Amino acid sequence: MAFTLAPLPYAHDALEPHIDTLTMQIHHGKHHQAYVDNLNKAIAGSPNENKSLEELVAVAGSISPAVRNNGGGHWNHTFFWESLAKPGAADVVNAPSGKLADAITAAFGSFDEFKTKFGAGGVGRFGSGWVWLIVKDGKLEISSTPNQDNPLMDVAEVKGTPVLGVDVWEHAYYLKYQNKRPDYLAAIWNVINWNKVAARFDAA
Ligand code: MN
Repeated sequence: MAFTLAPLPYAHDALEPHIDTLTMQIHHGKHHQAYVDNLNKAIAGSPNENKSLEELVAVAGSISPAVRNNGGGHWNHTFFWESLAKPGAADVVNAPSGKLADAITAAFGSFDEFKTKFGAGGVGRFGSGWVWLIVKDGKLEISSTPNQDNPLMDVAEVKGTPVLGVDVWEHAYYLKYQNKRPDYLAAIWNVINWNKVAARFDAA
């Protein structure tokens, strides 16, 4: 079964001015498409061809680097697009509420403290990777992974169930923010789909 690239759940320009249209076109249409294509090439004719993306990600430590990197890339980007939404759209709220808000306060002190720590997690990831908000042992934690790894992988330093993930590869922000990763991570809060994050938290 070959994997396919789903369309973005919003228009390419929906996240303007925080994430620019050209970045979205290249990031989704070229980078994510390449992960899908290269994953399909890497599994073709092997027993991995019959596995789900979740099954592949779970055994990242015992599959080829091509399957790990491209499978992780496909999973991570799909999760990322679904974590974002057009500012002002019905499903975008500026801050989490309810049980998720309580859990954030319990884990980090306040929503502002959480944002500061999450941003620091993204800035502190050397090179390319991801910063995550995960549920681990029933509590929220911030973690980060290199390359296209994620917290569901057996190889992850900190394992857990992701509820939010932000791409900190340069391709995610370089056209608009150049070397200023902290500015990109500050702007990302304008386009987080907190209802989606809350639904994942409820399910975790
Ligand atoms: Mn990316």
